[in-house]
Amino acid sequence: MSMNNQGRPTKASDAMDANVKTFTGNKALMIEEALSFEVGDLSGSGVDLQEPSGEYDRLGGLKRNNMIGLPGLSEPEAMRHFVRLSQKNYAIDMGPFPLGSCTMKHNPRLNEKVARLPGFADLHPLAPESAAQGALELIDTLAFWLKELTGMPAVAMSPKAGAHGELCGMMAIKAALEARGEAGKRVRVLAPESAHGTNPATAVLCGFKVESIPGDGTGRVDLEALKEKLGDDVAGIMVTNPNTCGLFERDIRAIADAVHEAGGYFYCDGANFNAIAGKVKPGDLGVDAMHINLHKTFSTPHGGGGPGAGPTVLSEALAPFAPLPYVSLEDGKYGLVETLHHAEAEDSGETLGRLTAFHGQMGMFTRALSYMMSHGKDGLKQASEDAVLNANYVLARLKSEMTPSFDGPCMHEALFDDRFLKDTGVETIDFAKAMIDEGYHPMTMYFPLVVHGAMLVEPTESESKRELDLFCDALLSLAKRAKAGETESFKAAPVYAPRRRLDETAAARHPVLRWSPPQKAEAAE
Ligand SMILES: *Cc1c(COP(=O)(O)O)cnc(C)c1O
Repeated sequence: MSMNNQGRPTKASDAMDANVKTFTGNKALMIEEALSFEVGDLSGSGVDLQEPSGEYDRLGGLKRNNMIGLPGLSEPEAMRHFVRLSQKNYAIDMGPFPLGSCTMKHNPRLNEKVARLPGFADLHPLAPESAAQGALELIDTLAFWLKELTGMPAVAMSPKAGAHGELCGMMAIKAALEARGEAGKRVRVLAPESAHGTNPATAVLCGFKVESIPGDGTGRVDLEALKEKLGDDVAGIMVTNPNTCGLFERDIRAIADAVHEAGGYFYCDGANFNAIAGKVKPGDLGVDAMHINLHKTFSTPHGGGGPGAGPTVLSEALAPFAPLPYVSLEDGKYGLVETLHHAEAEDSGETLGRLTAFHGQMGMFTRALSYMMSHGKDGLKQASEDAVLNANYVLARLKSEMTPSFDGPCMHEALFDDRFLKDTGVETIDFAKAMIDEGYHPMTMYFPLVVHGAMLVEPTESESKRELDLFCDALLSLAKRAKAGETESFKAAPVYAPRRRLDETAAARHPVLRWSPPQKAEAAE
């Protein structure tokens, strides 16, 4: 395979069967794309004219001596470059995106229409409050519905991702412990073995020591094992519910009670709220803090498609430590409480401070509220029910050829392990690559870690039965092919992608994140 000086395979022809080689490297109207730096001439811009002679220097000697090192592309060349790249980016608008834990659901176009209203889209974050009343009302209204849906008394709107919301919640817990004079003593945070990586990472970032809680063999937390680990040095627990195995933690109340009794706090990872929104209020489960991934549950585009937003709801115990700013309403006028000095409410005296420069992810707020209001209370509840129904449909249909990790029905995602691939020579990663050839973005692979060769499928409520059937038929045919001994074709997959199988270990261990000119790269070797 020919590589460029960055160690990346460059030519599409390398990635194609010999008999489908084309002169240009393009495949029909799917056009091959190099880096803009590799296409454009670094020694000029896309629109250079010849240097006029005999001109005096109007910049008084400040004229640049060297080129700025950007590729010289004409406007149409630059435009086409980025449009072609965007076509290579798989998106929920192109087909099903079954990534488990990510809730890749359809983002209704109504949301986009509302987010683009100039009053919201063109508003400057430093606009005076008097000129931003509508935007502040929108943040306040969304906050109201988030509190209503979760049954929690307070919400911090500014976190800009789920992981950022975790940071907000854990910082609030730390601040509460400090206020109690116990921050030095309570240093342990417990999290299940199946926890999302951001949970332990957040706890460690906040200076806690993470200890894992064993499972009970049915994919849930072992309550007795948890109780044994509790003590007066425990700051709290971080539990996802429904959990990352796609199962509801039935003992959740008992878990919350045990942790509270031991003097700790309960952080709930709310990434899987899509299974229970409108059905269960986390406040009723004893939760102290929970982030809500607006970009998952409330449909706003994410991943390659856009930013996230992770508002974090807080219990009465943690509310006083909520970050600034927050929206206030007085005499019919909305305002922003931005500093401690201006915080009028007595209980805001212990705020953990600011998490972001401004007020959060406004575009996501607009889309999420549009989604909520267009669905209504009954619609949100039905969305959750349909998400669970779709996952169970997939589970039931794939059961005959694939191996579900746990018995019984699931919540909004179906978890399989690699037992059905035993002795076939095909591994989870090969199966995922073969899915790409069938036109499917793979499901989440090798997560959660508690299951061998995990494949976590989350169809979401927005897939129709027709789409689900085609998806299941494709996976069933792959499973049959693997069992029939077609190992070689799995190892070779993907065959039809612009790039074939890459060395993922090398890509992860030695990522090349910066382009450098050929001479320099050669000199470095
Ligand atoms: C997505 C996810 C997170 C992190 O959310 P981001 O918005 O990606 O930062 C945390 N926990 C679980 C279970 C998730 O699925």
